Amino acid sequence: MLQKTHSVAGMLAAEGVLVHFQVPLLSWETAAALLIGCLAGPLADIDKPGSTMAKVFFPLSFVLRLTNVRHRTMTHSVLFLFAIATLLTPLPELLFWSFLLAYASHAFIDLFNYQGVELLWPIKFKFRLLPKFMAIETGSYKESGFRYFLMLLCIALPVFYNWDTVSDLF
Ligand SMILES: [Zn+2]
Repeated sequence: MLQKTHSVAGMLAAEGVLVHFQVPLLSWETAAALLIGCLAGPLADIDKPGSTMAKVFFPLSFVLRLTNVRHRTMTHSVLFLFAIATLLTPLPELLFWSFLLAYASHAFIDLFNYQGVELLWPIKFKFRLLPKFMAIETGSYKESGFRYFLMLLCIALPVFYNWDTVSDLF
């Protein structure tokens, strides 16, 4: 999936966390969680040479390339998610879960892609949620449709849960 699709999915994951913790819509905590969601969503693609995340975190992506870590393997695995969770423990609960679930949303939506994800890396088995003919190819019109659907949810979810705040704005 494209970086923008992962950003939208990451933001949606952070919104889920905000709803769970009942954080007011217009607050700094909400802004911080959404920003973290947007950034953590595409982060796993640091293993993809040429991707924005690989460029932003150049020294790290360079190490991944040197050590021959292939795309959709280590950084997309459950094991790596646990490693990240351990690293993030000092964060406040809201930001911890926003980051972690946004990061996890990456491998989850990549499962709709026909190439599949090595979720149980280092075991070399690729998981895929859809049969090949239904799977979403990166950059395809199906991915655009999928992204618009996620964007709709991104708008609907906070509006639904903060209707009083939203209706006060207009
Ligand atoms: Zn990916």
